[in-house]
Amino acid sequence: MSGHSVPFFCPYCGDESLRPHGEKHGEWACESCRRVFALRSVRADSPHPPAPDSVGSAGAEGPG
Ligand SMILES: [Zn+2]
Repeated sequence: MSGHSVPFFCPYCGDESLRPHGEKHGEWACESCRRVFALRSVRADSPHPPAPDSVGSAGAEGPG
């Protein structure tokens, strides 16, 4: 895997002509639509999963 160092494309126009914008790492500028956007690392395993922590009294099973 070599060539494009940017593993994504512009979310606005879909062009892959992206270049690092500014000095901050994570900001990219599109050379096609001249838009600037920032990206952040997203982990697959979130520290706080959207699991139902609170236990409710409402049960599916009941007196039939
Ligand atoms: Zn663009």
